[in-house]
Amino acid sequence: MNKQDQPLIFELSKPGRIGYSLPELDVPDVILDDVIPSDYLREEEPELPEVSELDIMRHYTALSKRNHGVDSGFYPLGSCTMKYNPKINENVARYNGFAHIHPLQDESTVQGAMELMYDLQEHLKEITGMDEVTLQPAAGAHGEWTGLMMIRAYHEANNDTARTKVIVPDSAHGTNPASATVAGFETITVKSGEDGLVDLEDLRRVVGPDTAALMLTNPNTLGLFEENILEMTEIIHSAGGKVYYDGANLNAVLSKARPGDMGFDVVHLNLHKTFTGPHGGGGPGSGPVGVKEDLIPFLPKPVLVKTEEGYHFDYNRPQSIGRVKPFYGNFGINVRAYTYIRSMGPDGLKAVTENAVINANYMMRRLAPYFDLPYDKHCKHEFVLSGRRQKKLGVRTLDIAKRLLDFGYHPPTIYFPLNVEECMMIEPTETESKETLDDFIEAMIQIAKEAEENPEIVQEAPHTTVVSRLDETLAARKPVLRYQKQ
Ligand SMILES: *Cc1c(COP(=O)(O)O)cnc(C)c1O
Repeated sequence: MNKQDQPLIFELSKPGRIGYSLPELDVPDVILDDVIPSDYLREEEPELPEVSELDIMRHYTALSKRNHGVDSGFYPLGSCTMKYNPKINENVARYNGFAHIHPLQDESTVQGAMELMYDLQEHLKEITGMDEVTLQPAAGAHGEWTGLMMIRAYHEANNDTARTKVIVPDSAHGTNPASATVAGFETITVKSGEDGLVDLEDLRRVVGPDTAALMLTNPNTLGLFEENILEMTEIIHSAGGKVYYDGANLNAVLSKARPGDMGFDVVHLNLHKTFTGPHGGGGPGSGPVGVKEDLIPFLPKPVLVKTEEGYHFDYNRPQSIGRVKPFYGNFGINVRAYTYIRSMGPDGLKAVTENAVINANYMMRRLAPYFDLPYDKHCKHEFVLSGRRQKKLGVRTLDIAKRLLDFGYHPPTIYFPLNVEECMMIEPTETESKETLDDFIEAMIQIAKEAEENPEIVQEAPHTTVVSRLDETLAARKPVLRYQKQ
C-alpha cells in the first residue's frame, strides 16, 4: 500500500470486529446443517473482512469519491445520455405509497400506483404519437427485443412466416442488431452514405419479401437526423415489413416530432436517459414500448386497463407475446419519469430538445478547428469527432480519452460508430450550463495542443488518477481480483 492508496477493506479487518448489532434471538436457533443438504454447504467459513460500521461507511464513501457520476461532474458519454437526475424525482419515488407497497398486493389497494402508471402511458402515447404503450420492458435493449417479438407475432398471425430478416443501418446503436438476433431474426446491415444518412439505394437493394422490419436509430449514432424517414417507412411498408424507431435518445426530437407521425409501427424509449432516471452501473432502467393499432393484440400481458371500477391488469390477451418482466416493469423508475414529465410540462419538454441540440452544436463548432469533423452539418443531441489528425502525431483517441480523466471528466464513447476513424461520440446533454461546456471545450483544446507539442503527456495519461492505464479487457472481465493476504 503506498501513501495515496486507500487500504483495502481486507487490510482494515480485525478479528472479531463487527459492524452491526442485532437483538437477542427470540426464536429457536436453526442449525444450517440440519436444513441444507451438505452438498450445498461450504466447508470453510467465507473470508470476509471484519470491520466496524464506521470503517465500512468510510471505505465506501472514499471509494465513491473516486467514481464518476452526473452528480460529481460533466459526463459527455454520447448516445447513452448521462444527464441531471432531478432530486424531486427521488423525493416522489420515496413516498410511502410508492416505496412501501408490494407488487403482490390486491389491485384494489394500489389504485394510486396503477393510476400513475396508466397516466404515464397516456403521456408517452401523446409524446410518441403511438396508440398504446407498455411499461414492462426494463431497459432499451429489452424494449427492442419486446418490440421485435411483437412484430414477429404479428407476421406469424398473418401466416407470413418467410419474414426472417431485420434491416439495421450501420449507424444504429449496437443493441439493435443484438436484439434482432436474440429475437430470432437474421440481421441485414444497410450502409450509410457519405452524408452519414441511410443510403436509400442500398435500402431498396436489401428489402424484400423476407423483410420483417427495419430498425432505425434516430437521430443515428452520428447525431444526425435521418432526413429521408418518410421514404424509408414507405419502402419498408410497401414490402410488407414493419418499421421500428429506436427512441432511446428522444431528447433530440421531444415535443418537435413524433415517431408515430413519421409512420413508425413500434418505438421504444429509455426513461433512464431522456426522462432522467438515474442510470449507469447496471442500475434499473425502463424501456417502454409504444405500438400502433395493429400490434396492440400482441402487447406483453398483463395490459393495464382503466374500467369503470378502476384500474385493472388484463390477462385475457390470447395473442399476447406473454410477460416480459415480473410484475409491471421497474416501477421506481417509472415514478421518476412521471414526476419529470409532470414537473417539466409541455413547454419544459420542448426546451429540453432545443437546449440539447444547441448545446451539441455549440460544442461541435467550437471543437471543429482542433479535431476532424467527419460530418460538417447541424447535429442533433450529439456529434462525432475524429482523432485522425492527432493519430498522425502518434496520439490515439484512446489517449485523448485517458487524458480527459486528468481534467476530471468521464470520457465520451470512443471508437463507435465504427465507420468513423478514431471516433469520439460526444453528447453534452441539455442540462449543462454554458460555463460547464466551455470548461470541457478548453480541456479538449489543451489536449489537442499537447498532442502537437508534447504528445507523451497524452500518450501516458492518466497521471492524476488512483490507478494508471488499465488493461481494458482484463478490467472488464475480471473487475475483482482476489485479495491475497501478505
Ligand atoms: C442506450 C441506447 C440503447 C440501449 O438501451 P439500454 O437501456 O442500455 O439497453 C438503444 N439504443 C440507443 C440509441 C441508445 O442510446
